[in-house]
Amino acid sequence: MKLHLLGTGTPILDRGRPATTALLIEVGPEKIVFDTGRGVTGQLLQQNITPVDVDTVFITHHHYDHIADLGEFLLSAWHNGRTKPIHVWGPSGTAQIVAALFDQVYARDIAFALFNEPDAVDIRQLVKVVDVGPGVVYESDTWRVVAEYVNHGNSLGLSTIEWPCLGYRLEAEGKAITIGGDTVACEGLDRLARDADVLVMACYLADQEIDNPAFERLVTHVIASSGQVGQIAAQAGVRMLVLTHFRKKSAALMRSLTDDVRANFSGELIIGHDLMMIEV
Ligand SMILES: [Zn+2]
Repeated sequence: MKLHLLGTGTPILDRGRPATTALLIEVGPEKIVFDTGRGVTGQLLQQNITPVDVDTVFITHHHYDHIADLGEFLLSAWHNGRTKPIHVWGPSGTAQIVAALFDQVYARDIAFALFNEPDAVDIRQLVKVVDVGPGVVYESDTWRVVAEYVNHGNSLGLSTIEWPCLGYRLEAEGKAITIGGDTVACEGLDRLARDADVLVMACYLADQEIDNPAFERLVTHVIASSGQVGQIAAQAGVRMLVLTHFRKKSAALMRSLTDDVRANFSGELIIGHDLMMIEV
């Protein structure tokens, strides 16, 4: 498998990480995208891949840095000639978001395209969206994906109905890649990450940055810090930990972040950057 980090930035704007959360996994000829943050289509083009080539999209949750360019991605696939279905899976509310894009935001654009090309496939037939929860989401002869709820602010009192956030585990070629999504340590993540070959984790803050109540709250309930991701990876027994979703920080803080992870985790550690490719 090939794992491409397309975007490793966050809502905190950072010229060094212009694209936000999106990654691509290639299983043989199949191309699977997880999250469609800012710049996803342009980042795919940098890898000589276009949205036309992608069969499947998984969405972890509905923060805008994870779905900012979902509409652009789907419209690009359609406009550039895709006629085979594109499957989109995501937590409850994903179908509603796609419907809003097609029936509201881009309704006139789509009507214009169909007026000029009446024989074209309607994008609403092309894109197959299904809201999903924990369990096996997709299974073929060559790969399967399992989802679990993760804790991305839910322990503050938001139910998984109000704010459903998923992590995923992709199994193929006898290996497992876990996409934790944005989360702190939780049972769902434990199950997804157990003995995985690769765990991709969002790591927003280095432990050194946690110097105010707002950041304390973040690392307790919303998104794991550097020390926490090392603990999570060590406890799960993963072989390789890939970090992404860094808040903009100095080189010195990035070094301290690495040290924090290393204090708990002795496996292979990759500090992700936009357009990084990892062979799994
Ligand atoms: Zn988020």
